[in-house]
Amino acid sequence: MSSRNSLYWITNDLRIDDNELLQRAKNADLLICLYCVDPKWFKPWRYHVAQMGKKRWQFLQEGLADLHQRLAALGQRLFIVHQAPEEVIPTLCQLHNISDLLLSRQFGFDERRALASIEKQQPHLSIFESDHATLLPASELELGFPNLKGGFTPFKNRALMVLDDLVQPLPAVKRLPPAPRQLSIDLDTSVNYLPTTANDTKALFKGGETQAQSHIINYLSSDALSHYKQTRNALMGFTHSSKLSAWLNSGALSVRQVHAQVCQYEQKHGRNESSQWMIFELLWREYFHWLSLSQSQSLFTFKGLRKNPPLTGYYAERFQKWSQGNTAYPLVNACMRELNATGYLSNRGRQIAASCFVNELQLDWRYGAAWFEHNLLDYQVSVNWGNWQYIAGVGVDPRGGRHFNIEKQQKSYDPDKYYINTWCGHEDFSQQASDSVDAADWPNV
Ligand code: FAD
Repeated sequence: MSSRNSLYWITNDLRIDDNELLQRAKNADLLICLYCVDPKWFKPWRYHVAQMGKKRWQFLQEGLADLHQRLAALGQRLFIVHQAPEEVIPTLCQLHNISDLLLSRQFGFDERRALASIEKQQPHLSIFESDHATLLPASELELGFPNLKGGFTPFKNRALMVLDDLVQPLPAVKRLPPAPRQLSIDLDTSVNYLPTTANDTKALFKGGETQAQSHIINYLSSDALSHYKQTRNALMGFTHSSKLSAWLNSGALSVRQVHAQVCQYEQKHGRNESSQWMIFELLWREYFHWLSLSQSQSLFTFKGLRKNPPLTGYYAERFQKWSQGNTAYPLVNACMRELNATGYLSNRGRQIAASCFVNELQLDWRYGAAWFEHNLLDYQVSVNWGNWQYIAGVGVDPRGGRHFNIEKQQKSYDPDKYYINTWCGHEDFSQQASDSVDAADWPNV
């Protein structure tokens, strides 16, 4: 019998537990676990900033280091290559006689294009995409789900009907097939290279499955979930929301694991408004994932799903002031300074900062989305760009955009200016006009 060699292209699934692809790879004769660090992530792209910021990179490296150790405990190893997947994977498939390519479903346009290119270069490769980054499998969406462009509520109502029948998280594999001793490609310094982590900031979150698991246990064993609905909108407070997003999106924790653990919590403590609200939020995440797949490239276009483009543009100095937290709006400044310093911002803070970007500063929403992409530890393509479209009024929101009244928001969520003071949002910048130099003088950000 001919041997079956598998290549597992690891992306948004940095974990061993509840990993359908490792379960599938169990019976292969040889397994390559590969992570591609694409050099283009680090180069400024059309929005003047690189996709991968320093803090996000640090979080990702921690996640990779943790996975590396966990795979080693199973006799496997993680190969990290600093090359675009569509360049390196076809070569590896050829050199290692790979018959099966395994990967988690990709939601971003670039990632899908990379996969299409691999498919074209290796037409005989059997490709399996797992839906283990979402609650629902793609097949479920084809069965009686309303059109996603009809908005969140019909999607949520349908999803709630089927959620309980979903597959439970899978147990972790106990053993794996062997890895090759080396990859048969030019071994430059980037191969098998795990850079040491530069711990230059006091990190709020540490990447990796080990940290993710202890975080969810701590969160659910405290009483935080019982007041989630009341506190989730707060601008500050570590336990006011779950803080699961960065681990969820790197795949250190699966959304099915979170769902299952919230259900267990409900069995023990009873179902309440807050535990149900957590499920709703996980469904927002789910919704944006599937919507982005149907939207394809329009997730990134100026007019998004609308017929006409918004009446905003790119004003370099305004963008600079917003991104550095130097606008005329202290609350927005505090939000941006928190984001830049920690890589995290509450949902309310994100909404206020994004609404100001689009409505007060009249900026092209895509530059704001790209700044968030660069900075957020929990960056996820569908959720980030989808939320930005929603606020900019070019997404599926039936109300056509969201304009948050900044003064009102401050009165409701930061009446004592505690948040503003913590992040030095006020300083003297509030007196400055939005534009003071010509766009031609624009400094790089
Ligand atoms: P919790 O309130 O505890 O929610 C639990 C989980 O539900 C989150 O971890 C997240 O997975 C999901 N969730 C919560 N709110 C939303 C939402 N509005 N949309 C989709 N899913 C949600 N979230 C990201 O994970 N990645 C992003 O790149 C991202 N970009 C955003 C950009 C903008 C402009 C806005 C307004 C929101 C964005 N969000 C993003 C959604 C949300 O702000 C974060 O998921 C949330 O703040 C993360 O904190 P938490 O885990 O404590 O959330």
